[in-house]
Amino acid sequence: MAKVVKFGGSSLADAKQFKKVAKIIEADKHRRYVIPSAPGKRFGADVKVTDMLYACYDAILAGRDAEVEFTPVAERFNGIIKDLGTSLNLTSEYERIIENFRKKSGRDYAASRGEYLNGLILADFIGYEFVDAAKAIHFRPDGTFDADLTDASLSMILESFRRAVIPGFYGAKPDGVIKTFSRGGSDFTGSIVAKAAKASLYENWTDVSGFLVADPRIVKNPEVIKTITYRELRELSYMGAGVLHEDAIFPVREAKIPINIKNTNNPEAPGTMIIPEADFSDKDPAKVITGIAGKKNFSVIHIEKDETNNEIGFLRRILTLFETEGVSFEHIPTGIDTMSIVVGSDVFEKHPRLTELIEKVAKPGHMDIEHNLALIAVVGRGMKERRGTATRIFAALSHANINIRIIDQGSSELNVIVGVGEEDFENAVRAIYDMFMLAE
Ligand code: ASP
Repeated sequence: MAKVVKFGGSSLADAKQFKKVAKIIEADKHRRYVIPSAPGKRFGADVKVTDMLYACYDAILAGRDAEVEFTPVAERFNGIIKDLGTSLNLTSEYERIIENFRKKSGRDYAASRGEYLNGLILADFIGYEFVDAAKAIHFRPDGTFDADLTDASLSMILESFRRAVIPGFYGAKPDGVIKTFSRGGSDFTGSIVAKAAKASLYENWTDVSGFLVADPRIVKNPEVIKTITYRELRELSYMGAGVLHEDAIFPVREAKIPINIKNTNNPEAPGTMIIPEADFSDKDPAKVITGIAGKKNFSVIHIEKDETNNEIGFLRRILTLFETEGVSFEHIPTGIDTMSIVVGSDVFEKHPRLTELIEKVAKPGHMDIEHNLALIAVVGRGMKERRGTATRIFAALSHANINIRIIDQGSSELNVIVGVGEEDFENAVRAIYDMFMLAE
Protein backbone atom coordinates (compact mmCIF):
# COMPACT_ATOMS: atom_id res chain seq x y z
CA MET A 1 0.00 0.00 0.00
CA ALA A 2 1.30 3.40 -0.86
CA LYS A 3 0.25 6.91 -0.12
CA VAL A 4 1.33 9.73 -2.38
CA VAL A 5 2.02 12.98 -0.58
CA LYS A 6 2.33 16.34 -2.29
CA PHE A 7 3.66 19.37 -0.45
CA GLY A 8 2.87 22.87 -1.69
CA GLY A 9 5.28 25.80 -1.83
CA SER A 10 4.45 27.21 1.60
CA SER A 11 5.06 23.75 3.13
CA LEU A 12 8.61 23.84 1.75
CA ALA A 13 9.37 27.55 1.94
CA ASP A 14 12.27 27.25 4.41
CA ALA A 15 14.17 24.76 6.59
CA LYS A 16 11.61 25.03 9.39
CA GLN A 17 8.89 23.91 7.01
CA PHE A 18 11.13 21.16 5.58
CA LYS A 19 11.48 19.74 9.08
CA LYS A 20 7.71 19.66 9.55
CA VAL A 21 7.42 17.87 6.21
CA ALA A 22 10.05 15.29 7.17
CA LYS A 23 8.19 14.61 10.42
CA ILE A 24 4.91 14.13 8.58
CA ILE A 25 6.53 11.68 6.15
CA GLU A 26 8.22 9.75 8.95
CA ALA A 27 4.98 9.47 10.88
CA ASP A 28 3.45 7.07 8.34
CA LYS A 29 5.52 4.43 6.55
CA HIS A 30 2.98 4.29 3.75
CA ARG A 31 3.92 7.82 2.66
CA ARG A 32 6.24 6.46 0.01
CA TYR A 33 6.05 8.86 -2.92
CA VAL A 34 6.60 12.53 -2.28
CA ILE A 35 5.88 15.37 -4.73
CA PRO A 36 7.42 18.72 -3.79
CA SER A 37 6.57 22.16 -5.15
CA ALA A 38 9.20 24.87 -5.38
CA PRO A 39 9.76 26.96 -2.22
CA GLY A 40 6.87 29.40 -1.81
CA LYS A 41 6.48 32.57 0.17
CA ARG A 42 7.91 32.71 3.71
CA PHE A 43 6.05 35.92 4.50
CA GLY A 44 3.47 38.11 2.77
CA ALA A 45 5.85 40.21 0.69
CA ASP A 46 8.19 37.32 -0.18
CA VAL A 47 8.62 36.04 -3.76
CA LYS A 48 7.97 32.42 -4.75
CA VAL A 49 10.99 30.71 -6.29
CA THR A 50 8.95 29.92 -9.43
CA ASP A 51 8.34 33.65 -9.92
CA MET A 52 12.02 34.41 -9.27
CA LEU A 53 12.94 31.90 -11.98
CA TYR A 54 10.56 33.33 -14.55
CA ALA A 55 11.90 36.83 -13.86
CA CYS A 56 15.47 35.57 -13.97
CA TYR A 57 14.99 33.91 -17.34
CA ASP A 58 13.25 36.96 -18.81
CA ALA A 59 16.16 39.13 -17.67
CA ILE A 60 18.62 36.77 -19.38
CA LEU A 61 16.56 36.90 -22.60
CA ALA A 62 16.79 40.69 -22.33
CA GLY A 63 20.58 40.38 -22.37
CA ARG A 64 21.48 40.29 -18.66
CA ASP A 65 24.15 37.99 -17.27
CA ALA A 66 22.88 34.51 -16.37
CA GLU A 67 25.12 33.98 -13.38
CA VAL A 68 24.25 37.32 -11.79
CA GLU A 69 20.53 36.78 -12.35
CA PHE A 70 20.56 33.24 -10.96
CA THR A 71 22.49 34.14 -7.79
CA PRO A 72 19.44 35.06 -5.64
CA VAL A 73 17.81 31.72 -6.53
CA ALA A 74 20.95 29.79 -5.59
CA GLU A 75 21.13 31.77 -2.34
CA ARG A 76 17.56 30.85 -1.49
CA PHE A 77 18.29 27.12 -1.90
CA ASN A 78 21.65 27.35 -0.15
CA GLY A 79 19.90 29.04 2.76
CA ILE A 80 17.56 26.07 3.13
CA ILE A 81 20.45 23.57 2.95
CA LYS A 82 22.48 25.51 5.50
CA ASP A 83 19.56 25.77 7.93
CA LEU A 84 18.83 22.08 7.53
CA GLY A 85 22.44 21.44 8.49
CA THR A 86 23.11 18.93 5.70
CA SER A 87 26.26 18.67 3.62
CA LEU A 88 24.52 18.71 0.25
CA ASN A 89 26.34 20.80 -2.33
CA LEU A 90 24.38 21.90 -5.39
CA THR A 91 27.14 23.98 -7.05
CA SER A 92 27.47 21.71 -10.09
CA GLU A 93 23.66 21.72 -10.52
CA TYR A 94 23.64 25.53 -10.43
CA GLU A 95 26.44 25.66 -13.00
CA ARG A 96 24.54 23.37 -15.33
CA ILE A 97 21.37 25.46 -14.96
CA ILE A 98 23.24 28.72 -15.66
CA GLU A 99 24.83 27.11 -18.70
CA ASN A 100 21.39 26.02 -19.97
CA PHE A 101 19.98 29.47 -19.28
CA ARG A 102 22.73 30.89 -21.49
CA LYS A 103 21.71 28.43 -24.20
CA LYS A 104 18.14 29.75 -23.87
CA SER A 105 16.67 26.40 -22.93
CA GLY A 106 13.20 27.83 -22.45
CA ARG A 107 10.95 29.50 -19.89
CA ASP A 108 9.43 26.18 -18.86
CA TYR A 109 12.87 24.75 -18.21
CA ALA A 110 13.69 27.80 -16.10
CA ALA A 111 10.51 27.59 -14.02
CA SER A 112 10.87 23.84 -13.48
CA ARG A 113 14.24 24.22 -11.74
CA GLY A 114 12.43 25.30 -8.57
CA GLU A 115 10.80 21.91 -8.17
CA TYR A 116 13.90 20.09 -9.44
CA LEU A 117 16.29 21.64 -6.92
CA ASN A 118 13.78 21.46 -4.09
CA GLY A 119 13.27 17.78 -4.89
CA LEU A 120 17.00 17.13 -4.67
CA ILE A 121 17.18 18.82 -1.25
CA LEU A 122 14.13 17.00 0.08
CA ALA A 123 15.24 13.59 -1.19
CA ASP A 124 18.63 14.08 0.43
CA PHE A 125 17.09 15.28 3.70
CA ILE A 126 14.62 12.41 4.13
CA GLY A 127 16.82 9.74 2.52
CA TYR A 128 14.48 8.95 -0.37
CA GLU A 129 15.50 8.19 -3.94
CA PHE A 130 15.24 11.16 -6.37
CA VAL A 131 13.40 10.54 -9.65
CA ASP A 132 13.67 13.37 -12.16
CA ALA A 133 10.18 14.15 -13.49
CA ALA A 134 11.76 14.70 -16.93
CA LYS A 135 12.14 10.91 -17.12
CA ALA A 136 8.76 10.05 -15.67
CA ILE A 137 6.22 12.63 -16.87
CA HIS A 138 5.80 12.68 -20.64
CA PHE A 139 4.55 15.34 -23.01
CA ARG A 140 3.88 14.88 -26.73
CA PRO A 141 5.90 16.81 -29.34
CA ASP A 142 3.01 19.30 -29.61
CA GLY A 143 3.34 20.06 -25.89
CA THR A 144 0.19 18.28 -24.67
CA PHE A 145 0.44 15.92 -21.72
CA ASP A 146 0.66 12.23 -22.67
CA ALA A 147 -1.35 10.53 -19.93
CA ASP A 148 -1.10 6.97 -21.24
CA LEU A 149 2.63 6.96 -21.85
CA THR A 150 3.22 8.60 -18.48
CA ASP A 151 1.05 6.12 -16.63
CA ALA A 152 2.82 3.17 -18.23
CA SER A 153 6.38 4.40 -17.73
CA LEU A 154 5.76 5.88 -14.30
CA SER A 155 4.22 2.64 -13.01
CA MET A 156 7.37 0.81 -14.07
CA ILE A 157 9.68 3.37 -12.49
CA LEU A 158 7.74 3.33 -9.23
CA GLU A 159 7.91 -0.44 -9.07
CA SER A 160 11.67 -0.20 -8.85
CA PHE A 161 11.69 2.43 -6.10
CA ARG A 162 10.02 1.72 -2.83
CA ARG A 163 10.37 5.33 -1.72
CA ALA A 164 11.00 8.31 -3.97
CA VAL A 165 10.76 12.05 -4.35
CA ILE A 166 9.40 13.12 -7.74
CA PRO A 167 9.38 16.88 -8.33
CA GLY A 168 6.04 18.39 -9.34
CA PHE A 169 5.03 20.77 -12.12
CA TYR A 170 7.10 19.51 -15.08
CA GLY A 171 7.96 16.69 -17.43
CA ALA A 172 9.63 16.45 -20.82
CA LYS A 173 8.84 16.04 -24.50
CA PRO A 174 10.37 13.12 -26.44
CA ASP A 175 13.33 15.33 -27.45
CA GLY A 176 14.05 16.04 -23.79
CA VAL A 177 12.77 19.62 -23.84
CA ILE A 178 11.25 20.45 -20.48
CA LYS A 179 7.57 21.38 -20.36
CA THR A 180 5.57 22.52 -17.33
CA PHE A 181 1.89 22.26 -16.50
CA SER A 182 -0.01 25.46 -15.81
CA ARG A 183 0.67 27.30 -12.55
CA GLY A 184 -0.06 25.23 -9.48
CA GLY A 185 0.56 22.11 -11.56
CA SER A 186 2.38 20.13 -8.87
CA ASP A 187 -1.09 19.14 -7.65
CA PHE A 188 -1.59 17.51 -11.02
CA THR A 189 1.77 15.69 -10.85
CA GLY A 190 0.74 14.33 -7.43
CA SER A 191 -2.47 13.01 -8.90
CA ILE A 192 -0.68 11.38 -11.85
CA VAL A 193 1.78 9.69 -9.50
CA ALA A 194 -1.03 8.52 -7.19
CA LYS A 195 -2.73 6.87 -10.15
CA ALA A 196 0.44 5.21 -11.43
CA ALA A 197 1.34 3.99 -7.92
CA LYS A 198 -2.22 2.68 -7.44
CA ALA A 199 -2.08 4.57 -4.19
CA SER A 200 -4.64 4.08 -1.46
CA LEU A 201 -4.65 7.82 -0.80
CA TYR A 202 -3.35 11.05 -2.31
CA GLU A 203 -2.52 13.51 0.45
CA ASN A 204 -2.23 17.10 -0.67
CA TRP A 205 -0.46 19.08 2.06
CA THR A 206 -0.94 22.82 2.02
CA ASP A 207 -1.35 25.69 4.48
CA VAL A 208 -5.08 25.44 5.17
CA SER A 209 -6.99 22.73 7.02
CA GLY A 210 -9.16 21.85 4.04
CA PHE A 211 -11.88 23.42 1.96
CA LEU A 212 -14.23 25.79 3.69
CA VAL A 213 -17.98 25.70 3.22
CA ALA A 214 -17.89 29.34 2.09
CA ASP A 215 -15.37 32.07 1.36
CA PRO A 216 -13.99 33.31 4.73
CA ARG A 217 -13.80 36.84 3.33
CA ILE A 218 -17.58 36.74 3.14
CA VAL A 219 -18.64 34.41 5.97
CA LYS A 220 -16.95 34.69 9.37
CA ASN A 221 -15.24 31.43 10.45
CA PRO A 222 -16.97 29.10 8.02
CA GLU A 223 -16.88 25.40 8.79
CA VAL A 224 -14.36 23.10 7.11
CA ILE A 225 -15.86 20.64 4.63
CA LYS A 226 -15.20 17.15 6.03
CA THR A 227 -16.00 15.15 2.92
CA ILE A 228 -16.83 16.21 -0.59
CA THR A 229 -17.30 14.15 -3.72
CA TYR A 230 -15.33 14.78 -6.90
CA ARG A 231 -18.48 15.96 -8.62
CA GLU A 232 -19.34 18.42 -5.90
CA LEU A 233 -15.83 19.77 -6.01
CA ARG A 234 -16.12 20.29 -9.76
CA GLU A 235 -19.29 22.30 -9.22
CA LEU A 236 -17.53 24.42 -6.61
CA SER A 237 -14.10 24.80 -8.17
CA TYR A 238 -15.71 25.83 -11.39
CA MET A 239 -17.19 28.73 -9.49
CA GLY A 240 -13.78 29.73 -8.27
CA ALA A 241 -13.09 28.09 -4.90
CA GLY A 242 -9.58 26.89 -5.70
CA VAL A 243 -7.26 25.29 -3.17
CA LEU A 244 -6.45 22.49 -5.60
CA HIS A 245 -5.44 22.75 -9.28
CA GLU A 246 -8.56 22.10 -11.37
CA ASP A 247 -7.00 19.28 -13.38
CA ALA A 248 -5.70 17.47 -10.33
CA ILE A 249 -8.88 15.58 -9.68
CA PHE A 250 -9.05 13.80 -13.03
CA PRO A 251 -6.34 11.10 -12.81
CA VAL A 252 -7.27 10.04 -9.26
CA ARG A 253 -10.96 10.29 -9.91
CA GLU A 254 -10.60 7.80 -12.73
CA ALA A 255 -8.69 5.48 -10.42
CA LYS A 256 -11.14 6.08 -7.54
CA ILE A 257 -8.40 7.25 -5.20
CA PRO A 258 -9.49 9.73 -2.53
CA ILE A 259 -7.61 12.99 -1.97
CA ASN A 260 -7.06 14.31 1.52
CA ILE A 261 -6.34 18.04 1.78
CA LYS A 262 -4.13 18.46 4.86
CA ASN A 263 -2.42 21.30 6.68
CA THR A 264 1.38 21.03 7.13
CA ASN A 265 1.14 23.57 9.95
CA ASN A 266 -1.59 21.60 11.72
CA PRO A 267 -1.11 17.94 10.79
CA GLU A 268 -3.57 16.71 13.41
CA ALA A 269 -6.53 18.43 11.74
CA PRO A 270 -8.45 15.89 9.62
CA GLY A 271 -8.66 18.27 6.65
CA THR A 272 -11.04 17.65 3.76
CA MET A 273 -11.47 14.22 2.23
CA ILE A 274 -12.39 14.25 -1.46
CA ILE A 275 -14.12 10.98 -2.22
CA PRO A 276 -15.03 9.32 -5.50
CA GLU A 277 -18.67 8.81 -4.65
CA ALA A 278 -21.09 9.77 -1.94
CA ASP A 279 -20.70 7.50 1.01
CA PHE A 280 -24.06 7.81 2.65
CA SER A 281 -23.03 5.69 5.58
CA ASP A 282 -20.64 8.35 6.82
CA LYS A 283 -22.68 11.31 5.80
CA ASP A 284 -23.88 13.63 8.48
CA PRO A 285 -27.61 13.33 7.80
CA ALA A 286 -28.32 16.88 8.89
CA LYS A 287 -26.06 18.45 6.27
CA VAL A 288 -27.79 19.28 3.04
CA ILE A 289 -25.18 21.69 1.79
CA THR A 290 -21.52 20.85 1.21
CA GLY A 291 -20.37 24.21 -0.04
CA ILE A 292 -21.39 27.59 -1.37
CA ALA A 293 -19.30 29.36 -3.98
CA GLY A 294 -19.95 32.29 -6.20
CA LYS A 295 -18.57 34.84 -8.57
CA LYS A 296 -19.47 38.31 -9.76
CA ASN A 297 -19.20 39.78 -13.21
CA PHE A 298 -21.76 37.91 -15.25
CA SER A 299 -24.27 39.19 -17.77
CA VAL A 300 -27.46 37.66 -19.14
CA ILE A 301 -28.58 37.94 -22.71
CA HIS A 302 -32.37 37.59 -22.74
CA ILE A 303 -33.76 36.50 -26.06
CA GLU A 304 -37.47 36.43 -26.71
CA LYS A 305 -39.27 35.20 -29.77
CA ASP A 306 -42.83 34.02 -30.11
CA GLU A 307 -43.25 30.34 -30.69
CA THR A 308 -39.59 29.47 -30.29
CA ASN A 309 -40.78 26.10 -29.07
CA ASN A 310 -42.10 25.42 -32.56
CA GLU A 311 -39.09 26.77 -34.35
CA ILE A 312 -36.77 23.85 -34.78
CA GLY A 313 -33.11 24.78 -34.78
CA PHE A 314 -33.45 28.10 -32.95
CA LEU A 315 -31.19 27.08 -30.08
CA ARG A 316 -28.79 25.38 -32.43
CA ARG A 317 -28.34 28.49 -34.55
CA ILE A 318 -27.49 30.57 -31.51
CA LEU A 319 -25.16 27.96 -30.05
CA THR A 320 -23.43 27.47 -33.40
CA LEU A 321 -22.80 31.19 -33.46
CA PHE A 322 -21.27 30.98 -29.98
CA GLU A 323 -19.11 28.13 -31.16
CA THR A 324 -17.83 29.81 -34.30
CA GLU A 325 -17.18 33.03 -32.39
CA GLY A 326 -15.41 31.10 -29.62
CA VAL A 327 -17.68 32.43 -26.87
CA SER A 328 -18.23 30.19 -23.85
CA PHE A 329 -21.35 30.49 -21.76
CA GLU A 330 -22.24 29.45 -18.22
CA HIS A 331 -25.92 28.57 -18.28
CA ILE A 332 -28.91 28.65 -20.58
CA PRO A 333 -32.18 28.78 -18.68
CA THR A 334 -35.08 28.59 -21.16
CA GLY A 335 -38.82 29.26 -21.20
CA ILE A 336 -41.48 28.61 -23.80
CA ASP A 337 -40.75 31.76 -25.79
CA THR A 338 -37.58 32.89 -24.09
CA MET A 339 -34.06 31.82 -23.62
CA SER A 340 -31.40 33.46 -21.53
CA ILE A 341 -27.71 32.97 -21.95
CA VAL A 342 -25.51 33.69 -18.98
CA VAL A 343 -22.00 34.76 -19.98
CA GLY A 344 -19.00 36.32 -18.29
CA SER A 345 -19.34 40.09 -18.69
CA ASP A 346 -15.99 40.31 -20.47
CA VAL A 347 -17.34 38.57 -23.59
CA PHE A 348 -18.79 41.85 -24.86
CA GLU A 349 -15.37 43.45 -24.95
CA LYS A 350 -13.81 40.42 -26.60
CA HIS A 351 -16.69 39.97 -29.06
CA PRO A 352 -18.18 43.41 -29.69
CA ARG A 353 -20.36 42.17 -32.56
CA LEU A 354 -21.97 39.35 -30.57
CA THR A 355 -25.45 40.84 -30.17
CA GLU A 356 -25.50 42.02 -33.76
CA LEU A 357 -24.70 38.47 -34.88
CA ILE A 358 -27.40 36.99 -32.65
CA GLU A 359 -29.90 39.37 -34.26
CA LYS A 360 -28.76 38.16 -37.63
CA VAL A 361 -28.96 34.40 -37.07
CA ALA A 362 -31.94 34.21 -34.71
CA LYS A 363 -34.03 37.27 -35.59
CA PRO A 364 -35.47 37.45 -32.08
CA GLY A 365 -38.54 39.55 -31.39
CA HIS A 366 -36.82 41.11 -28.45
CA MET A 367 -33.37 40.98 -26.92
CA ASP A 368 -31.85 42.76 -23.98
CA ILE A 369 -28.78 42.40 -21.84
CA GLU A 370 -28.60 42.63 -18.08
CA HIS A 371 -25.20 43.27 -16.53
CA ASN A 372 -23.79 43.17 -12.97
CA LEU A 373 -25.00 39.74 -12.10
CA ALA A 374 -23.43 37.43 -9.54
CA LEU A 375 -23.91 33.67 -9.64
CA ILE A 376 -23.95 31.56 -6.50
CA ALA A 377 -23.68 27.78 -6.62
CA VAL A 378 -25.17 26.01 -3.65
CA VAL A 379 -23.77 22.50 -3.84
CA GLY A 380 -24.56 19.39 -1.83
CA ARG A 381 -25.06 15.69 -2.46
CA GLY A 382 -27.41 15.82 0.52
CA MET A 383 -29.93 17.74 -1.62
CA LYS A 384 -30.79 14.73 -3.66
CA GLU A 385 -34.27 13.52 -3.05
CA ARG A 386 -34.63 15.81 -0.10
CA ARG A 387 -37.57 18.16 -0.23
CA GLY A 388 -37.43 21.81 0.62
CA THR A 389 -33.86 22.72 -0.28
CA ALA A 390 -34.82 25.24 -2.94
CA THR A 391 -37.52 26.62 -0.65
CA ARG A 392 -34.96 27.20 2.06
CA ILE A 393 -32.57 28.95 -0.33
CA PHE A 394 -35.34 31.21 -1.56
CA ALA A 395 -36.62 31.85 1.95
CA ALA A 396 -33.13 32.82 3.09
CA LEU A 397 -32.77 35.26 0.22
CA SER A 398 -36.26 36.64 0.63
CA HIS A 399 -35.69 37.29 4.37
CA ALA A 400 -32.50 39.10 3.47
CA ASN A 401 -34.51 41.21 1.04
CA ILE A 402 -32.61 39.95 -1.98
CA ASN A 403 -34.19 39.70 -5.38
CA ILE A 404 -33.38 36.49 -7.25
CA ARG A 405 -32.77 37.13 -10.92
CA ILE A 406 -31.94 33.64 -12.13
CA ILE A 407 -32.57 30.12 -10.86
CA ASP A 408 -31.02 27.01 -12.32
CA GLN A 409 -31.04 23.59 -10.74
CA GLY A 410 -28.43 21.21 -12.11
CA SER A 411 -30.00 18.06 -13.52
CA SER A 412 -27.95 15.97 -11.12
CA GLU A 413 -29.79 17.50 -8.14
CA LEU A 414 -26.39 18.32 -6.78
CA ASN A 415 -26.51 22.06 -7.11
CA VAL A 416 -28.80 25.01 -7.29
CA ILE A 417 -27.49 28.12 -8.98
CA VAL A 418 -29.00 31.45 -8.17
CA GLY A 419 -28.22 34.71 -9.88
CA VAL A 420 -28.49 37.91 -7.86
CA GLY A 421 -27.41 41.50 -8.39
CA GLU A 422 -23.72 42.02 -7.67
CA GLU A 423 -24.57 44.42 -4.87
CA ASP A 424 -26.42 41.59 -3.10
CA PHE A 425 -23.73 38.96 -3.59
CA GLU A 426 -22.07 38.89 -0.16
CA ASN A 427 -25.35 39.18 1.73
CA ALA A 428 -26.82 36.38 -0.32
CA VAL A 429 -23.91 34.02 0.43
CA ARG A 430 -24.18 34.85 4.15
CA ALA A 431 -27.94 34.35 4.17
CA ILE A 432 -27.69 30.93 2.52
CA TYR A 433 -24.82 29.90 4.81
CA ASP A 434 -26.78 30.91 7.91
CA MET A 435 -29.91 29.16 6.75
CA PHE A 436 -28.19 25.82 6.22
CA MET A 437 -25.16 25.80 8.49
CA LEU A 438 -26.36 27.61 11.59
CA ALA A 439 -29.84 26.19 11.66
CA GLU A 440 -28.64 22.58 11.77
N1 ASP B 1 5.72 26.10 -8.37
C1 ASP B 1 4.71 26.12 -9.35
C2 ASP B 1 3.86 27.36 -9.23
O1 ASP B 1 4.17 28.23 -8.44
C3 ASP B 1 3.90 24.86 -9.36
C4 ASP B 1 3.25 24.52 -8.06
O2 ASP B 1 3.61 25.04 -7.03
O3 ASP B 1 2.33 23.71 -8.07
O4 ASP B 1 2.89 27.49 -9.90
